[in-house]
Amino acid sequence: MIEYKNVSVSFGKFNVLSNVNFHIKKGDFFHIVGPNGSGKTTLIKTLVGLLKPNDGQIDINTKKLGYLPQKLNLRNLIPMTVQEVIYSGFEKPKLFPSKAECDLIKSWLKKMEIEELFDHSMNYLSGGQQQRVYLIRALISEPEVLILDEPTSALDPSFREKFYILLHEIQQKNKTTIIHVTHDLTDAIKDNCTIMFVDQSIKFIGSYADFNQFEHRGHHHA
Ligand code: ADP
Repeated sequence: MIEYKNVSVSFGKFNVLSNVNFHIKKGDFFHIVGPNGSGKTTLIKTLVGLLKPNDGQIDINTKKLGYLPQKLNLRNLIPMTVQEVIYSGFEKPKLFPSKAECDLIKSWLKKMEIEELFDHSMNYLSGGQQQRVYLIRALISEPEVLILDEPTSALDPSFREKFYILLHEIQQKNKTTIIHVTHDLTDAIKDNCTIMFVDQSIKFIGSYADFNQFEHRGHHHA
């Protein structure tokens, strides 16, 4: 479904990603990990088309992408209500959502435990509440590929766990391909996922069990 062939990205003389090769199959749960500044967000930006690689080729076999960016510009004032932000993530939004669309938005707000916020202005929400709204926006049109860049950074730990359970349910139900950038794999891991460790290039790609061995070998100082 997605294939990277010898992809490199640099900013001026600074090589952020060199010769990146990997592929992701339909229905994969694909975690991207790596230290700060290792190029994870840069990689995601090439995937969603926000950044053009200097070299190499990226093949993507779908147009139905859902994307939750890492930086939500939470400090910017957004003169929109919660339902307007979510509705803007629909495939073909009209001027106003229909009754059925409103009901769908409400059911998602309930799942994310923020049903009371439907008509609230985005400006007055906490960081965690805003993150939940943007998560709904990414999920609601049931994309074939869901790209989440540190989706739980602003969520509290108890909700984080629920969120990953929900994500695994969505993946099972819709065969969604999920690409997940994270610092913390603890809540996110299930069997049959793939982990890719990036640090300018790909240092590891494989199962969670093999990843643990890779960590034990002390890759950080290799
Ligand atoms: P990560 O997501 O793994 O923390 P990033 O992909 O955000 O890492 O950044 C990788 C490196 O590229 C960092 O050193 C960052 O400073 C640099 N970088 C990212 N975007 C730009 C840019 N637009 N111009 C110059 N340098 C950038």
